[in-house]
Amino acid sequence: MKQIFTNENRILAMHSKNVLENAGIEVMLKNEHGSAGATPGHQIWLEIWVNETDYERSIELLKYSEEEAKKIWVCKNCNEENTATFGACWNCQTAAEVIQ
Ligand SMILES: [Zn+2]
Repeated sequence: MKQIFTNENRILAMHSKNVLENAGIEVMLKNEHGSAGATPGHQIWLEIWVNETDYERSIELLKYSEEEAKKIWVCKNCNEENTATFGACWNCQTAAEVIQ
């Protein structure tokens, strides 16, 4: 297996894992429960591993999901710009239009 992703931000790491799993890729997590030899207080980074045959596709999927998250939509109520990660306008809470 091959390591594809490591990040101190567990939420981000778990998000990446979900993206890959939703695409039917087998994912292995390392350091999910920390490591026995770790210094107390030291943050263990989550590692995401995939099969070597899935590696290229996994890179593409993660890149794609990052780009999706950067997409902007404009609120039809207040014209504020929102990133695709917001399901509703950050400013006035109007629900997102269908994201292009
Ligand atoms: Zn708005």
